[in-house]
Amino acid sequence: MDRSLGIYLHIPFCLRKCNYCDFCSFPKREEDMSLYVSELCRRLEAYAKDASDHTVDTIYFGGGTPTLLPIELFEKIFESIWKKYHIAKNVEVSCECNPASCTAEYISSLHVLGFNRMSIGLQSTSDEELRILGRAHSYSDFLSTFEAARRAGFSNISADLMYALPSQSISSFKRSLEELTSLCPEHISAYGLKIEEGTPFFEKVDSLSLPDEEEQAEMYLLLSSFLHDRGYEKYEISNFSHKGMESKHNLKYWSGEEYLGFGVAAHSFFGGERFGNSRDMEGFLAGKDIVAERYRSSETEQRDEYVMLSLRLAKGLDLGDFKSRFGVDFLSEHPNVRSYIDGDFMSMTDGRIKFTDKGFFVSNYILSELIDA
Ligand code: SF4
Repeated sequence: MDRSLGIYLHIPFCLRKCNYCDFCSFPKREEDMSLYVSELCRRLEAYAKDASDHTVDTIYFGGGTPTLLPIELFEKIFESIWKKYHIAKNVEVSCECNPASCTAEYISSLHVLGFNRMSIGLQSTSDEELRILGRAHSYSDFLSTFEAARRAGFSNISADLMYALPSQSISSFKRSLEELTSLCPEHISAYGLKIEEGTPFFEKVDSLSLPDEEEQAEMYLLLSSFLHDRGYEKYEISNFSHKGMESKHNLKYWSGEEYLGFGVAAHSFFGGERFGNSRDMEGFLAGKDIVAERYRSSETEQRDEYVMLSLRLAKGLDLGDFKSRFGVDFLSEHPNVRSYIDGDFMSMTDGRIKFTDKGFFVSNYILSELIDA
């Protein structure tokens, strides 16, 4: 049992749909929760034999809004996992939490049940920005949730922020950073807003007063330097933590480790295969197989995946490891990396290639150039 495994559970229920959201989530379907969880448990238990030589060291409930589930449904899922899988003693058990959906008593029950990491969706400390985003909570709801989590015993709390929001200024983003860091969460994730097709924001994008590219870059650089000065290490393009408090589960995605995802729209990487479920909620509830794609990467694809994933991490790509895995020299294969180093978008130290802060902001563009080269 020397192989570790992460388990991801997708809980697709939400109070209402936020204006920017294209995640797989369904508002107002509380009546389906019980059947959804029964289906999750059935599939979790059915898959367990394939993972009998694995030890589960991370479990992550994402969504959607997992904290809409009644505690007894969480108990059911825990029972299935603990009954059927080998669980590491120090397993990290995370729950995404929406401040609009939790009472102190509920948070305390999550801790008693076995959760040891809470990831709270804040997004902004400005109530006006939260209103524009269509979030169902205020900053003061977040403060109550955060304090309740601390009182319940959570010593590993993450908070999500967003930047590049409509009408957001550099100074209001800085205020969000100041107010959030004054609470000392162990971990902060911060993502730039992307306007996705099919969302209310997409429909009215021309009327949104969005920061231009220069302001967005300024916000990202501010994010990196501000958090660095307050003791947070950037370990991934959008993730920052106190030393040793990185998300073990999310690191699996970026380090090419195995994980199994359950529920609608959940993805897996297991036994050398990548496979993902569709968003077919009705099919899932009816017990159907909703795997929409399944593939084994070719060697070129594996190389590209390795480059994409390792360069997302602040520690970057290990040139020696690349050579021993794929038998080719990364710099000879990607000579254009030299020009990114000269332009201060990347750096090379201790046998590793990594993005600088300036490079991280345009990393999607640079990565696409590297992969297509
Ligand atoms: S709470 Fe999260 S998953 Fe639900 S609608 Fe808002 S952004 Fe989407």
